Amino acid sequence: MRYQRPKGTNDILPEEAPRWRAVERTFRDICRRYDYGEIRTPIFEETELFVRSVGEDTDIVSKEMYTFEDKGGRSLTLRAEGTAPTVRAFLENNIQGQDRERLIKLYYIAPIFRQDKPQAGRYRQHHQAGVEALGRPEPSVDAEVIDLALTFYRELGIEGTRLLINSVGCPECAPGYVDTLKASVADSVCEMCRDCQRRYETNPLRLLDCKNDVCRQITQAAPMMLDELCGECAEHFSGLREHLEALGIAYEIDPRIVRGLDYYTKTAFEFRHDALGAQDSIGGGGRYDGLVEQCGGPAIPGVGLGIGIERVLMVREALGLRDEEEPREGSFIVTIGDEAWMPGYKLLHDLRQQGIKAEIDYRRRSIRAQMRYADSQNYLNAVLLGGDEIARGVATVRDMVSGEQEEVPLDELAEELRSRRPE
Ligand SMILES: [Zn+2]
Ligand SMILES: [Zn+2]
Repeated sequence: MRYQRPKGTNDILPEEAPRWRAVERTFRDICRRYDYGEIRTPIFEETELFVRSVGEDTDIVSKEMYTFEDKGGRSLTLRAEGTAPTVRAFLENNIQGQDRERLIKLYYIAPIFRQDKPQAGRYRQHHQAGVEALGRPEPSVDAEVIDLALTFYRELGIEGTRLLINSVGCPECAPGYVDTLKASVADSVCEMCRDCQRRYETNPLRLLDCKNDVCRQITQAAPMMLDELCGECAEHFSGLREHLEALGIAYEIDPRIVRGLDYYTKTAFEFRHDALGAQDSIGGGGRYDGLVEQCGGPAIPGVGLGIGIERVLMVREALGLRDEEEPREGSFIVTIGDEAWMPGYKLLHDLRQQGIKAEIDYRRRSIRAQMRYADSQNYLNAVLLGGDEIARGVATVRDMVSGEQEEVPLDELAEELRSRRPE
């Protein structure tokens, strides 16, 4: 019986892990500079948290969540998105303290689970890097979150990221707009795709981001939210534009950016890259001023961002951006003859204690095989140890690139190897 990984999941192997680490390292470093603190929440939450916050009629809640009952009869759901758990933890741990006006900035890198139809760039377990800024309603915070994401793409070498922005209004102005939208397409609903016929009743804003040509044509003539914004939302949107412009950030206004989730208010944004073809979204987010209250807290505004790490890796791949090859490093201990095995094994331990990356051939093969293996594994040095060397308290250190060799006393070996480290 051979097992396979579940459909829509991936194994990240040691040779791919450096690409992931580079992306994660860049994101962490940018979050540090922008003063976001890391938060790690559980891999599962009470199902109700997602239903309440994301919305019952969204695709995520209605058909994509990994929901299960535990042995205590509780309904739990694998992390279906990043914002609700962060808001839950923000409230539960009273991160804000007494000052309800204070801006709290959090980031995470975590897996997201959705039982989506597997296709290129969409996985049932995918990974997201995200930030949530909770506590302030100012558009300067929205612009900062957008700026952070663009800095991230840029520092990974990804040029050509497009920023699309929109406003989805607030409880003051959105419901009126939704009625207008529904009225304007009412006569043509039966021509729209099946999803849209359902959305018409449950989540009408999403009629706007349907990719179906017929649906797009029908909504083409519909009024757009941006024309129906209340005074406050309109002011917020122009504030966002001013702050983006002050930072020299180019954007396109796209009234079809509505995001899938119920909790968005005002700003909605998305990042796209042409290198990805049809599935061109590489991140997005928006403001969610009602979410904290919806999760049982006080009226605290927030804005957040999620970036799909797999998508970012795909763009880098498509653009031919490779991380520099891992430099040769570490030392491979080559033992010559049986008598050298145990001293070599002890030397391996000693070097590791002294901070040196070191390895040995547990199979105890021939010198030739050991040398070949050390080379294939990208070691910088071979440390040759035979009976003669052991008797004299030395080892022969060979540079695997130049082939140069020198004898080094064992008690100076760690220092010598450390000095040979690349960089
Ligand atoms: Zn409004
Ligand atoms: Zn449609």
